[in-house]
Amino acid sequence: QGGIGDWITRRAHRRPHAPALIDGDSGRTVSYVDLERDVAAMAASLHELGVRRGDRIAILMENSIDFVYVLFGAANLGAIVVPINFRLSGREVRHILADSGALVLAVSDRFRDLATDALAQGEHGVRRILVETDGAAIGDHPVSTLGELLTAEARRGPDPLIRAEDTCVIMYTSGTTGTPKGAMLTHGNMQWNAFNMATVGSGLSSSTATIAVAPMFHIGALGLSVLPILYAGGTVITVRAFDPHRTLELMQRYRTTTQFMVPAMWAALSKVPDFDSYDVSTMQYVLCGGAPCPLPVIEFYQQRGWMFLEGFGMTEASPNTLLLDEESVVSHAGSVGRPFMHVDVRIVDNEDHDVAVGEVGELVLRGPNIFAGYWGRPVETAEATRGGWFHTGDLGRADAEGFITLVDRKKDMIISGGENVYPIEVEQVLYRHPAVSEVAVIGVPDEKWGETVVAVVVLGDGNNDIDEAGLIDYTRSRIAHFKCPRRVVFVDELPYTATGKLLKRTLRERFTGVGA
Ligand code: ATP
Ligand code: MG
Repeated sequence: QGGIGDWITRRAHRRPHAPALIDGDSGRTVSYVDLERDVAAMAASLHELGVRRGDRIAILMENSIDFVYVLFGAANLGAIVVPINFRLSGREVRHILADSGALVLAVSDRFRDLATDALAQGEHGVRRILVETDGAAIGDHPVSTLGELLTAEARRGPDPLIRAEDTCVIMYTSGTTGTPKGAMLTHGNMQWNAFNMATVGSGLSSSTATIAVAPMFHIGALGLSVLPILYAGGTVITVRAFDPHRTLELMQRYRTTTQFMVPAMWAALSKVPDFDSYDVSTMQYVLCGGAPCPLPVIEFYQQRGWMFLEGFGMTEASPNTLLLDEESVVSHAGSVGRPFMHVDVRIVDNEDHDVAVGEVGELVLRGPNIFAGYWGRPVETAEATRGGWFHTGDLGRADAEGFITLVDRKKDMIISGGENVYPIEVEQVLYRHPAVSEVAVIGVPDEKWGETVVAVVVLGDGNNDIDEAGLIDYTRSRIAHFKCPRRVVFVDELPYTATGKLLKRTLRERFTGVGA
C-alpha cells in the first residue's frame, strides 16, 4: 500500500529527529520530520502549478537535498520523475524532454545554460521551470524557485492513493548500446528493490549511513544509495561531484557504514596517496557494480579487510539483480554472484531454452523489481519481455551452485574465425600487465576472419617502453591465441558514458579498418 512517500511519513513518526539527508557540501542536515514537512509542501506547490497524477517532471540537477524533495514531492502526487543525465548535450537533453513529455523541468544553477540550450533545440512540452536561485530567464517559460515552493502557503496538497503499479520514475538507460530508453520503474519496483537491498551484507537499518556520490540520474545511485537507505530510516549524504579525497573525508566525518560506487570511482579512490590515513573503520560493506571491476581494484580493498561486494544490475531491474555475497567474495572471485532474494534469473539460448550448467547464454530476469516497460516504446518492450522474461542482452554462464559469471554483452561479443571471443576476458588479462592503465577490447570487421580482435590501451604514467608486440606476446602466453588481440592501439583516453561505461560502439566506429 502507498508509494515511496509513505516511507518518509512512517519514519518521521517513529524517529522524527533522526537525520535523513545531509548536504555533504554545506553540512546542512534534514531530519525525517523536516523531510516529511518539506515534501508535503513541495507536493502541494507542484499541484498548484498544475502537476497531476501521471504528469512528468524532469530533473536536471546534481545530487542534492532539493533533488530528493522534487522526487518525493512528485511521487506523493502520483507524478513521475524523469532524472536527466547532465553530461548530455543540449540536443540530447531536448530529446529526453520531448520523449518523456515532461511538463516541468527542475534545473540546478550549474545547468541553467544547458537547460536554455536544450529548450531552444526544438519541440518539447515543458511549461514551467523550477530553479535553485533567481536569475536570468531560461527560455520564455515561467520560473519558480524551489525555495518558494517549500515555503508556499498550501502546506498540504491532495493525498492520492499511490498503487504499487503506478510509475514512480522514468529512468533512461545509459545509452551504452544505442539511444537511451526510458524504463518505467514503479513504486512497487522501488519497494522490492529496497527489500532486496535489505538482504545484502550486514543489512539496512536506521544506523545505515552512506554517501550518494554516483549521479542520481542513474539508477545505481537512486536504487542503492538513496531509496533503500531512506526506506530503512538511515542517512544519505549528498554530494554534487565526485572527488576521491573528499569522499574519504566524508566517510570518516559521518562514520558511514556502506558505500556504492561504479568501478571507475573505486579505482580513483584507491589511488588516493594517503588512503590509509583515513579512519573508515565504521564501514561494514561496500558495493561495486554497473560495469566490470578490474581485479586489482577489488584486491586493493580486500587487502585492507573491506567487505567489497560486486553486484550486477541494470536500469530495467531497479537495478539490483545479482550479488556476490560475503561468504563467496573470495571463493568465487570473478563471478557476479547469485540472484538477489526476490529475483529469478535464467540463462537461455537464442530460442529461449535453458542452457546447460557451464554453457554461455543470455541472462533473462523475472521479479517484482523488473520494470513496467519502456516509455512510449511498445515494440521494444514486447521484444525485450517476450515470454514474460526480461532479456538483458548480457551473456553469462552459471556453475553448479548457481554462481553466474558475466561473459559480456551480446552486442560486444566478437566472432573471429568462427570462434566466440568475449572481450572482458581479454581485458582482464591486459589489466594484469603493469603498464596498462585502461583497456577496451573490441571487434572490428575483417574480410578474412569476419571480425578481428583489437585492444585499445591507455598506458599508466611513465610506461612508454612497452610496445604493441610486447602486449600481444603478453596475452599469448595467457589465453588461447584466437582470443589475443591482433592489433593494439594506444590512446590518451577511452570514451565513457556518464555512468562510467566504456562506449565500445564509439571505439568500433573509430577503429574500423585498423585491423586490416
Ligand atoms: P543501454 O541499455 O542504453 O545500452 P546500459 O545497458 O549500459 O545502456 P544501464 O542500465 O545503466 O544501461 O546498465 C546495465 C548494464 O551494465 C548491464 O546490462 C551490464 O551490461 C552492465 N553491468 C552492470 N553491472 C555489471 C557488472 N558488475 N559487471 C559487468 N557489467 C555490468
Ligand atoms: Mg541496457
